[in-house]
Amino acid sequence: MAEVAVIGAGPAGLMAAETLAAAGHCVETFDAMPSAGRKFLLAGKGGLNLTHAEGFEAFVARYGERAAALRPWLEAFGPQALRDWAAGLGIGTFVGSSGRVFPTEMKAAPLLRAWLHCLRGQGVLMHQRHRWQGWTDDGALRFDTAQGPLTRRPQATVLALGGASWARLGSNGAWWPWLQARGVELAPLRPSNCGFDVGWSAHFSGRFAGEPLKSVAIAVDGWRQEGEFVVTQGGVEGSLVYAASAALRDGIERDGSASFELDLLPARPLDWVTHELAHPRGPRSLSTHLKTRLNLAGVKAGLLWELVPKDVRADPVRFAALIKALPVRVTAARPIDEAISTAGGVKLEALDEGLMLRACPGVFCAGEMLDWGAPTGGYLLTACFASGCAAGRGAARWLAR
Ligand SMILES: Cc1cc2nc3c(=O)[nH]c(=O)nc-3n(C[C@H](O)[C@H](O)[C@H](O)COP(=O)(O)OP(=O)(O)OC[C@H]3O[C@@H](n4cnc5c(N)ncnc54)[C@H](O)[C@@H]3O)c2cc1C
Repeated sequence: MAEVAVIGAGPAGLMAAETLAAAGHCVETFDAMPSAGRKFLLAGKGGLNLTHAEGFEAFVARYGERAAALRPWLEAFGPQALRDWAAGLGIGTFVGSSGRVFPTEMKAAPLLRAWLHCLRGQGVLMHQRHRWQGWTDDGALRFDTAQGPLTRRPQATVLALGGASWARLGSNGAWWPWLQARGVELAPLRPSNCGFDVGWSAHFSGRFAGEPLKSVAIAVDGWRQEGEFVVTQGGVEGSLVYAASAALRDGIERDGSASFELDLLPARPLDWVTHELAHPRGPRSLSTHLKTRLNLAGVKAGLLWELVPKDVRADPVRFAALIKALPVRVTAARPIDEAISTAGGVKLEALDEGLMLRACPGVFCAGEMLDWGAPTGGYLLTACFASGCAAGRGAARWLAR
């Protein structure tokens, strides 16, 4: 059977390798790192949110303007198929309270171990410490290895090289100019699901950096969500900020800065907050008043001292309005290397329905290096697995043509 090279042994590449091996092809994987799936293992540190248990239509809608393009991949290998596949490797999953799906052990290592074992059993040959360096002038794949340069001419190639965050785990976006030189349509790589700089005072960050803000809501451009995030030394990060990150990043690119409105008491209506604030406080300090009447203390109260001018704090109506909608101005997205995921990459228009690059016959692409985006919640990994499966099927069809 045909020989196929899969470059990048993350979730997308390994799934492409599995699909091709199952179709009877002779598959070799090549990865720059000493071992496979480094970023997948890192995702496991946060519990490994594999996918989400919401209804299929709601799930697909999470991919925003790319939802229609991703639908066929997800119909072929979606959230339930992913859970069934994990079960086939002996890894049970459960649905958390928010609908997020995790492996029972909340870790990536047992799943990755079982998967690699299974792939080897299917005859997949895995080469680590093989860094792909693009193509030679006559079209061979070019690798740097510990033993020196290596070239290969497989009948088909699947690129699953990831985005450009956490470069120390292998994905550094170095592929971008090589694909550009071959005429592949690309969108610039940008941080996604990332933190932002705010520029806190030394006093505030000294006291509150690392503190979580729980049970709050943030709103940007008519979008609003409840959840939690964390104050960092210079700004904000965490799931709720990641969910707003695309709008904030685009706002900064357009206007130089962007703001979100923070509701510190999402369960309480504005009237109630105003009424409680206006309650006579006698000799008690404003801090004590906030704590006893509104349960606002710690980092939540700290934010009010940091961001609300003194004269406004003296006016219950204006102060209440800010407790419900406190503008927090962000000045820059954190660098892409710190981001959870990467936006941009190979435009979906550059691919045919089998995920083959129109500009490079026989070369397929999958995973985070493609130009789609999604919030955290298991949507990133699910689309990486699904696209790996779609690229593997596409390559198998192309080889059988
Ligand atoms: C801290 C963190 C937590 C996360 N948690 C979750 C989560 O809980 N749920 C979720 O859905 N998603 C999560 N993600 C995102 C998820 O891990 C990624 O979207 C996913 O790993 C991308 O898969 P991929 O196969 O496309 O790329 P990657 O996993 O990045 O794999 C790409 C592979 O290609 C190799 N490579 C790159 N360039 C070359 C080259 N030139 N030559 C050879 N090999 C190369 C790399 O070494 C790497 O092994 C998290 C990400 C981070 C950073």
